[in-house]
Amino acid sequence: MTIDPLQLSKDLISCASVTPKDEGALDVVQNALEGLGFTCRRHIFEESGTEPVDNLYAQFGEHSPNFCFAGHTDVVPPGDVNEWKVNPFKPEVIDGILYGRGAVDMKCAIACFIAAVSEYLRHKTPHGSISLLITGDEEAIAINGTRKLLKQLEKDSVKLDACIVGEPTNPSKLGEMIKIGRRGSVTFELKIWGKQGHVAYPHLADNPVSRINRILNELDSHDLDEGTEFFQPTNLEIVTIDVNNPTDNLIPQTAQAMFNIRFNDIHTSATLIRWIEGICNSLCETGDTKYELNHRVSGEAFLTQPGELSEIVSKAVKDVTGKEPELSTTGGTSDARFIKDYCPVVEFGMINETAHKIDECISTEDINDLTDVYKTILELYFK
Ligand SMILES: [Zn+2]
Repeated sequence: MTIDPLQLSKDLISCASVTPKDEGALDVVQNALEGLGFTCRRHIFEESGTEPVDNLYAQFGEHSPNFCFAGHTDVVPPGDVNEWKVNPFKPEVIDGILYGRGAVDMKCAIACFIAAVSEYLRHKTPHGSISLLITGDEEAIAINGTRKLLKQLEKDSVKLDACIVGEPTNPSKLGEMIKIGRRGSVTFELKIWGKQGHVAYPHLADNPVSRINRILNELDSHDLDEGTEFFQPTNLEIVTIDVNNPTDNLIPQTAQAMFNIRFNDIHTSATLIRWIEGICNSLCETGDTKYELNHRVSGEAFLTQPGELSEIVSKAVKDVTGKEPELSTTGGTSDARFIKDYCPVVEFGMINETAHKIDECISTEDINDLTDVYKTILELYFK
């Protein structure tokens, strides 16, 4: 049985699975995979303060090595539906382009991988297993998805040996870019307490605005590094400074700011926290000044060293598209940040130009080519 990637893409997009809702999307995936002989297991994860999320692990074969495709069926909200060319959940092909929410990020990639497997299995049997790890919790908080599913697989003694994540990775043409790692991300909230007073008597007060300015200036003007072979330089961006003081003759009591650091593998969130604490300590050591620094780590930087897996994916991309893909670590985070603790992981999927936008779309030609790339990856991996 072969599966038409375009029809399966449409079936998936027709489920309005706005994160963390499923609306039947995982059933579409499961039905297609069971038809191909996969064993499917569903896992609903929840924890207090979050909505329960359905996840799917499907496997064909019982032996190692286990080649896994990871992805998500949830999508971001469509925004104003009236601004779309088509109903975002009623996919349509217009002039060779498929429109619909999730076309790029990343329902079509899931459809392409399943179609690739169906073609592969028509002629061959893998010397090992093929699996899919599909979550409904990637676009929002990513708490009840991939992270927990990987722990569950460990409990079930399921081992992954290599993984490809189907996130959109190409800037403008299919075949341009493979992601072999990602920068880390950590957000800080800094609050400074000074001493409130009259602007005419500054010696009786301690201005937290001046102090937060000095700290932010110190952070902002420091180059953390110049980048590495596979990573762009680390950057710190101040995203807000808040004092909320409506009065022109009052030195305020507090000032706060928020900033985010995207960091490469020279740093960890822990070394960055220590660096910032050092600056805060040295600039807040006098008078009544106190500070509070809170942080939230979204992920550490990671890199899958170029090697067997990236070579296979690069070769498959070149065979199908004729392009030599760049090995890159740019862009935001993805669930690869969790998978990297279990096995080598690289990302290759659609063109990300229209991801999360009104009129998200991909050409049917790219759908066919991505299917061919995934099929070639399977052939090369199990050769
Ligand atoms: Zn995505």
